[in-house]
Amino acid sequence: MNNFSVRKATIDDAAFIARNVMEAVGHASDEKALKTMTRICQRQDTLYSYTNTIIAMVDGVDAGSLTAYEGTNYREKRQISFSIFKEEMGDDAMDLDDMQDETCAGEYYLDSLCVLPQFRKQGVGKYLLQQGIEYAKNQGIPHVVLAVEAQNPDAERLYRSLGFRKAGELFIFNGRYHRMQLDTTPPMRIDIITVLPEMVEPFIHTSILERAQKRNLVEIHIHNLRDYTTDKHGRVDDYPYGGCAGMVMQCQPIDACISKLTSERHYDEVIFTTPDGEQFDQPMANSLSMARNLIILCGHFKGIDYRIREHLITKEVSIGDYVLTGGELAAAVMTDAIVRIIPGVIGDEQSALSDSFQDNLLAPPVYSRPADYKGWKVPDVLLSGNEKLIRNWEMDQAMERTQRLRPDLLKK
Ligand code: SAH
Repeated sequence: MNNFSVRKATIDDAAFIARNVMEAVGHASDEKALKTMTRICQRQDTLYSYTNTIIAMVDGVDAGSLTAYEGTNYREKRQISFSIFKEEMGDDAMDLDDMQDETCAGEYYLDSLCVLPQFRKQGVGKYLLQQGIEYAKNQGIPHVVLAVEAQNPDAERLYRSLGFRKAGELFIFNGRYHRMQLDTTPPMRIDIITVLPEMVEPFIHTSILERAQKRNLVEIHIHNLRDYTTDKHGRVDDYPYGGCAGMVMQCQPIDACISKLTSERHYDEVIFTTPDGEQFDQPMANSLSMARNLIILCGHFKGIDYRIREHLITKEVSIGDYVLTGGELAAAVMTDAIVRIIPGVIGDEQSALSDSFQDNLLAPPVYSRPADYKGWKVPDVLLSGNEKLIRNWEMDQAMERTQRLRPDLLKK
């Protein structure tokens, strides 16, 4: 097993760093450029400074480097390197003036990662990236950002496994790159309180919700209310005052569970699922998805002791005008709708925003291959390749369907 370690680069590493940086953009064979780059790496005020570089070692031997920096004053610092390049390379220098900004303040930008050929496929790159992420976390920099070539699925997979997600595109030296971003701040957290954890567990560990948790875009915790009761038989309900039928969930276990959670962190809302609550819809899902921490309490039986609603609950939500046996399905519906619009949860950032209700319009119809199935044809316009015509068609369809099926949405 190889022994990985990391050290800060020193000025003596400048030539090594320069070669790695040039290698990463495919210019390592240009000796003149390499010399210039070395000069840039020797300085302290440039982006490629040795002071912005760490070096990974395998069994004590230099194996690769990561040059990374926080994006404040990015342009000014980039300009220093450009000027040195222009000065030394003269007409050979690439025209860099109108290049797109690769990063900005608030981002820790992993600019250049290089592993020497003989050390590849051993996890050195991943190790360096982890060091970079750790540094950003310790420094309280909210985002870690990098660019990956549009056609490099292996690299993209590695970045994703570390928690990066796609966040836009970037054109550098006329090449197309994906920007990938990782947030160092803790993800949104949802705490669900229920007497039936076995009903909610499988749901949150399936498909997109499971993937979102694995990629650290959301944390979902389920609490069994019975763990909080002081009753020796594990009861959480009792007969209602006034002698009506059914059982009522008691104050004590609910209070104990909510109080424990709220003593640990601030919650934006303590939600109770109830048919007489405010009706859940897309705008509510959008606004709840901006929260840091949410509690969702599932009721059962006749409901919960009203004093909990008066004293501890901040928001009461119904998922529709019908009565369910418990709040678990309501909690699942809300969690699903809230989590799927957290940036990065659904692969294509655009897709969650183009769904029904996002702009008070129903979504247009969608089709996939083949274009002709048993004589059932896909509308010609979708096969035309004319972007403008297609967008217009989609808009017309959305309007027509909303007018016909949900005219009430157009009045909102
Ligand atoms: N007696 C209550 C209904 C209790 S149903 C009443 O008439 O209002 C039991 C539990 O299921 C409720 O406490 C609530 O948590 C949940 N529940 C039932 N229907 C719901 C709905 N439409 N939306 C959200 N939660 C619901």
